[in-house]
Amino acid sequence: MTKSHFLLSVTLILTFATLTLASSPTKPYPSPYGDDPNSCEPTQFHHKDDSVPLRREVYGGGRIFDITHKYRVDMPSYGSPSGLGEFLWLRESIKNGSLANISEFKMLTHTGTHCDAPGHFYDEYFDAGFDIDSLDLEVLNGPALVVDVPRDKNITAEVMESLSIPKGVTRVIFRTLNTDRRLMWQSEFDTSYVGFTKDGAKWLVENTDIKLVGTDYLSVAAYDDLAPGHLFFLKGREIILVEALKLDGINPGLYSVHCLPLRLPGAEGAPIRCILIK
Ligand SMILES: [Zn+2]
Repeated sequence: MTKSHFLLSVTLILTFATLTLASSPTKPYPSPYGDDPNSCEPTQFHHKDDSVPLRREVYGGGRIFDITHKYRVDMPSYGSPSGLGEFLWLRESIKNGSLANISEFKMLTHTGTHCDAPGHFYDEYFDAGFDIDSLDLEVLNGPALVVDVPRDKNITAEVMESLSIPKGVTRVIFRTLNTDRRLMWQSEFDTSYVGFTKDGAKWLVENTDIKLVGTDYLSVAAYDDLAPGHLFFLKGREIILVEALKLDGINPGLYSVHCLPLRLPGAEGAPIRCILIK
């Protein structure tokens, strides 16, 4: 092959490769958001270079969805105007002569994607040991329904009734306006988030078999009904509340949910890793 032929071939191959990439026929759904809020491209397609760590929101070609928020200094924290702030630091570092890098972190147990135990709002349950380590993994793992709720109101009794969630459904994740507004991506705590009103919580407890309630901001209960909402849910000590789930790009429907909280005896809340499997 002459030099000019070789160059022509290389050019053709590159052109073909570019065309193939540019005309990628179908965009996978859901299109998870990466760290960049303006990016709706699946993160896994950005890294061809194996010297850069792969960070994914979706695994297995759209089979497994990570619905856990990454802990970030600029993530919102309940009641804080300026977000979580520094929570992780290198306590010992190789650069400073240590044998290994060892990090340390400190944060409220209700930071980011987390779950609540009965002791969170009932002091007698707290004293009796109904903590995170007492939560039933059977409830936290199994078939789950992701539902979209009306975008113009809190989750009231009327909204709950309109959702017509069948008896026998025990795990429901409620996707709300909070996801559309990307509240978990804004550092300032926003009191206008959507959550359960006290009558919505009461209706769920009295009329459904739901034992796992998941929502997409830092509290399942609306700001104005913070205590009564939690009190209705936690009173029977059967319902587990999972808060601040990352539901960007998740379609409503039936999944298998898998949530595993840290084992923290004595704690009424804990960080939790949650995934959905199709
Ligand atoms: Zn909580």
